[in-house]
Amino acid sequence: MSDSPLDILNHVFGYDSFRASQRDIVNCVTGGQDALVIMPTGGGKSLCYQIPALARTGVGVVVSPLIALMEDQVSALKELGVNAGYLNSTLDYDTVWHTENAIRSGELDMVYIAPERLIQERTLALLHDAEIALFAIDEAHCVAQWGHDFRADYLKLDVLHNQFPKVPRIALTATADERTRAEIIERLRLENAQQFISGFDRPNIHYRIQQKNKPREQLLRFLKDEQQGNCGVIYCLSRAKVEDTATWLCQQGFNALPYHAGLPASVRQQNQSRFLREDNIIIVATIAFGMGIDKPDVRFVCHLDMPKSVEAYYQETGRAGRDGQPSTALLLYGLEDIVKLRQMTENSDGSEMFKRQEQHRLNAMLGLCEVTGCRRQVLLRYFGDEMPEPCGNCDNCDSPPDTWDATEAVRKALSCVYRSGQRFGASHVIAILRGSDNEKIRTCGHNHLSTYGIGKELSTDEWRSVFRQLIASGLLAVDTAGYGALQLTEQCRPILRNEQTIAMRRDKPVQTRATQRKPT
Ligand code: ADP
Ligand code: ZN
Repeated sequence: MSDSPLDILNHVFGYDSFRASQRDIVNCVTGGQDALVIMPTGGGKSLCYQIPALARTGVGVVVSPLIALMEDQVSALKELGVNAGYLNSTLDYDTVWHTENAIRSGELDMVYIAPERLIQERTLALLHDAEIALFAIDEAHCVAQWGHDFRADYLKLDVLHNQFPKVPRIALTATADERTRAEIIERLRLENAQQFISGFDRPNIHYRIQQKNKPREQLLRFLKDEQQGNCGVIYCLSRAKVEDTATWLCQQGFNALPYHAGLPASVRQQNQSRFLREDNIIIVATIAFGMGIDKPDVRFVCHLDMPKSVEAYYQETGRAGRDGQPSTALLLYGLEDIVKLRQMTENSDGSEMFKRQEQHRLNAMLGLCEVTGCRRQVLLRYFGDEMPEPCGNCDNCDSPPDTWDATEAVRKALSCVYRSGQRFGASHVIAILRGSDNEKIRTCGHNHLSTYGIGKELSTDEWRSVFRQLIASGLLAVDTAGYGALQLTEQCRPILRNEQTIAMRRDKPVQTRATQRKPT
């Protein structure tokens, strides 16, 4: 216990100065206190426990669920001259034996341990034999039962408090909402921890959310016009779409690599390390990719499908621009996304309460997509940060969307849903509204409905925009039995009774940033 935290920062890690909150956090933990750290991805959480681990005597024990990344983290530390090791299920007996001895003898500065391993009697006994500098609990939101990264083993981590009451603990996460924070404090027994919550703004990321019309064309235009030669991540909902998109991008001349949980571990490993080490690589991935990925110069993150919550959107887009340079987060979303996500949530195995929470989370995400004001203001407000002025670095700030009085159109749409029996999806209802002649319409006799052909003044695309916004705002519900039939909700009443007008966002023709921005 010789060097000061600043010495360690300078000489071991080679950085000049601490970032905003790092200094206070490091001092708190080095002084022996518990800390709860909430910091966006890329904010610099690792140093918050690595430096106290070195500044204090004994071994720093880091609990991390990311077995795949432990080896990388440990070899990075070793390169800096830190004596680090890890314990997880991938190691052979000899290595485990050596690492355990090194912990017992006090040789190791830091050890990464998977949660399921840490809570084993054998490991706890080992730690009782050793001198421990601190416990760091990384990705602490995994303890939240309602969150999507929940790990049952995290619930048992209260043993650290119960069995090692004198050892300081630091829990870290990028998930910021109140509930998760409260659950971390309660489950990990961090009532006495000092809380450090850092700003969530990522000012260098340009947020852009567009209607998905011709996704491949939109993507291609974005990559060619703005991202030539850059590294980026493209997220898709399904494995099949990941593979198709990666193959197609390669045909278009890009270095695109697929990544999803269905690929052999060796392929995943190889694609991930190529992405980390080479320039000009695009990773096409499911959300399986990215937890803990640290590549500073990711210039863009593109979502070809809508994430299911604002937290997920923020985490995933947060992988862009960790180096602080201008970066872009592009999301393409459409009617199908909403219908699909609503159904997925409803048909999941969760309890009723879980489903309701998931629907609320999805609604917040839809709100972000449909908002006509500054996106960053909405995004930050969601995490409890107020931003007094519009940001000037999102698509809505660049060119504010038009709105139009959609009251009449909405009334037509709702009554057409009602007249056709609330048994059909948007495409069929739109066909009725536009007076289309197709077999389904004739078979169902829908050409005789009073609403047949009453909506010719709007194009199919315009109607799709209306229906998307009706579903997003909860005026129409999606039947979850599987066919996506639309149904009226209670909220429709005032509109049907002529008591309420409704303004809607006018979807812009798809533009790239280059054409959108006025020359300065
Ligand atoms: P997080 O875990 O919060 O996502 P990391 O700990 O991986 O973030 O840090 C993100 C990046 O910022 C890393 O490349 C890291 O080396 C760098 N970094 C962290 N703290 C500092 C600092 N004080 N000075 C310079 N670079 C830093
Ligand atoms: Zn803005």
